[in-house]
Amino acid sequence: MSRENIHNPPILELGPDFYDPVKPAVFPEAHLRYRNQEAARFIGLDSLSDSAWKDHFWAFKPLPGNLSEPLALRYHGHQFMHYNHELGDGRGFLFAQFPVAGTWYDLGTKGSGQTPYSRDGDGRLTLKGAYREALATELLQSLGVNTSKTFSFFETGENLVRYDEPSPTRAAVLVRFSHGHIRIGTFQRLAHFEQKENIQKLVDVCLKAYYPEIHSDDADERAFLFFQAVVRKCALLTAQWMIAGFVHGVLNTDNINITGESFDYGPYRFLPSYDVRFTAAYFDRQGLYSFGRQPVTMLWNLQRLGETLKLQFNTLPVEEIIEEFSDEFNAHVKRLFLQRLNLKSRGTEADGSLLTAYFNFMESSPALYEQAFFDFFGGKASPRIASSPQKDFYQGEEFANLMNQLQDFEVDDVTKMAHSYFQNSKPCTLLIEEIESIWKPIAEENDWGFFYKKLEEIRSFRGIY
Ligand code: AMP
Ligand code: MG
Repeated sequence: MSRENIHNPPILELGPDFYDPVKPAVFPEAHLRYRNQEAARFIGLDSLSDSAWKDHFWAFKPLPGNLSEPLALRYHGHQFMHYNHELGDGRGFLFAQFPVAGTWYDLGTKGSGQTPYSRDGDGRLTLKGAYREALATELLQSLGVNTSKTFSFFETGENLVRYDEPSPTRAAVLVRFSHGHIRIGTFQRLAHFEQKENIQKLVDVCLKAYYPEIHSDDADERAFLFFQAVVRKCALLTAQWMIAGFVHGVLNTDNINITGESFDYGPYRFLPSYDVRFTAAYFDRQGLYSFGRQPVTMLWNLQRLGETLKLQFNTLPVEEIIEEFSDEFNAHVKRLFLQRLNLKSRGTEADGSLLTAYFNFMESSPALYEQAFFDFFGGKASPRIASSPQKDFYQGEEFANLMNQLQDFEVDDVTKMAHSYFQNSKPCTLLIEEIESIWKPIAEENDWGFFYKKLEEIRSFRGIY
């Protein structure tokens, strides 16, 4: 990474209307619990000593040649469909930005102290929250979902009071590595204040920083191409969530990144078995962000972005662009589904029939979601269909129909069939019971062994999906 490239990070190009300089909290203790060397290598920080790592990712001493002070980002957003103009980075900030291969990446924090947007919050993150976010990002990465990475977290020695966790509870400060932090809510805030010129500026900086392949001399065309690119990326992400069996839980517009990267993991869940009504957040009483509502929710959020852009680009054909979402989403779902089963496509129609047969079976059965993908990897050739711990569920009319459909599908990548991951009887999962059971020894005896073992397991099959 060459330092001279960093002199104009996108946030400084956007300028002071987009952030507030803030001071990091000073923490009593520093216990490094997680350090992501793979992400660090990507931006040339993997050789930092533990003490330098602590200086930068616990004390937040600026990185040489990078942002000279932390910046709390300004944004608004719809939370559970209600507009909130009091949002913004309330417990985090942008710490550094890095160009890699023509695009920009951020290090941002969670739990690093109060900011002008903290309202009555303490600006802190629970250790359990950091632990849960690290697990989610690791597994989503292994499942092929476009996700932010957890870069680092330190336990800080503070005690926090939370109404939804046994309190007092331990605290942490987390650093997130992400493909930008511009949210739909960043645009919404500009529209709220009718800052039309800033909307233009934000579109152009986003294109330059995150969609460098898009060029046009015409501002309206740039807005068109930008919005279309965001719609497509978000359709892909939504398809990835569905095939991963992931329920984000809080799909507010401030949690949707315009790069189509999934981020901000609070009360997420992975599906036990296929259930479109499955809801992650206990406070989501209506099931607004349930598993099956994620596509329609993403579409709703993209509509909000479209409206916002229209303030400056009044001829933008929002509906026409948004219409692409469902075709894009459906095509990605089919493709990712076949990829998940390691099967060659037989054309749209045959692929669609297989997908329908598969989910009809899953709907009719108590079969576990991830175990089924694992067992059917390789299709009819998979020896696990007959030997699975849930083989007793593999019967009945819908199952017969699925097996019938599978007859004509061939394995895509034969070498993958021999991967050591498929010698196991069960796949790697992250259901709530396991998250709690790995947490227990940490909470009771400060024993992190099971956590590190789980990370190893999660990484053991990276690259298959
Ligand atoms: P989230 O649900 O994590 O996306 O957060 C929504 C908003 O609440 C953001 O503006 C956060 O910065 C803010 N927030 C959440 N927790 C805290 C906290 N403990 N202290 C201050 N602000 C917070
Ligand atoms: Mg958020």
